[in-house]
Amino acid sequence: MQRYNISMRHMLFGFGGVDMMRRVCKSCGTLLGAENETSICDACIEKDVREYTIVKEYIVSHRGASMADIYLQTKIPPSTIRRFISDKRIELVL
Ligand SMILES: [Zn+2]
Repeated sequence: MQRYNISMRHMLFGFGGVDMMRRVCKSCGTLLGAENETSICDACIEKDVREYTIVKEYIVSHRGASMADIYLQTKIPPSTIRRFISDKRIELVL
């Protein structure tokens, strides 16, 4: 006779719960709604767009600005600026 038991994961999280647990914002860790297709939440997307706009406008009027210049003038953290660079949203000029 075969015996069945519900898996430990299902007992802990319920059906679909494991996946839901993993769907948190990559940036701030907020739980994402099931309808959210991206890996970051709306608040972080908005913040990202706002920060990118600030950095972009600074660079447009200060071509060749250094990371330190950008940070001092815009107060956008270097980690964020570096992310824009690695996303190719900002180009390095040599
Ligand atoms: Zn977020």
